Amino acid sequence: MAQYRGRFAPSATGPLHLGSILAALVSYIHAKQHHGEWLIRIDDLDEKRCKQIHVDSILECLDAFGFRPSGSVCRQTDRITDYQNALVSLDNQRRLYPCTCTRKSLLKGPYPGFCRHQIGQTLIAESAVRIDTSDMDLTVDDLIATSSIIQPPGDFIVKRRDGLFAYQLACAVDEQIDGITHVIRGIDLLDSTPMQRFITQCLGYESPTYGHFPVLVGADGAKLSKQTFAEPVDWTRPGETFAVIARLLLLNDTPRPTDHAHVWLDFFVSLDNLIPKLIKASHANTLSL
Ligand code: GLU
Ligand code: ZN
Repeated sequence: MAQYRGRFAPSATGPLHLGSILAALVSYIHAKQHHGEWLIRIDDLDEKRCKQIHVDSILECLDAFGFRPSGSVCRQTDRITDYQNALVSLDNQRRLYPCTCTRKSLLKGPYPGFCRHQIGQTLIAESAVRIDTSDMDLTVDDLIATSSIIQPPGDFIVKRRDGLFAYQLACAVDEQIDGITHVIRGIDLLDSTPMQRFITQCLGYESPTYGHFPVLVGADGAKLSKQTFAEPVDWTRPGETFAVIARLLLLNDTPRPTDHAHVWLDFFVSLDNLIPKLIKASHANTLSL
């Protein structure tokens, strides 16, 4: 197995936007600077929200931005059997239970464990499945994020009432199948990490190392507007998007916006102060212009 295997795992719910390109870029730079491999995985479990047209646009866009994966692109929908096997294994450990609580009966915040007494009961298709988290560890050792308070998630759902495997379970199984050693992603996913690591540990997998980089903020210190952030990037002009990112990262001596995507990628990978910069910015959990 490679010493380092990273990944970018976009959801196939829409075209890539600035934040997704940043996530692809940071994970890519980190992998390349460690002479590692870098993979693309399509998160497409939610069949109502995920569309083939988005998968095509995401892959086309990543290609236009010069991101070449080290192996073939995989999709979560090809791994249902693997997720099912993981579920059975967790159930055999008597960690799972069917939850029949209605959304209305639950307040916001961690699930209070109303149905925990049902541990070991047959998991029927019509109810959600939760995992007993009483021995879950909430501390996160992070390569990038510094201080972060993680809210306990309570007994979280591993399989939804509608039959879909939850992202937390799928993601933990994916990292194992793909041999991922490093998960570098945005701080918005930090809360997911203890849940994924918990499943990893329960299943006896080796845990990847995690690094969560800060979110972007605009010049005035306010978060980039949802509009700007959610707008699809123009994949016919990757240099323009890379130039915006370079500006957000306060980088000098950048290539020109008209330069080829690979010139930009080589430039980013050559910067050995970029990850330290992200770590520094993590104190505020944001990255300012
Ligand atoms: N597909 C999810 C997202 O885009 C998860 C990404 C990840 O685990 O890196 O938010
Ligand atoms: Zn319940």
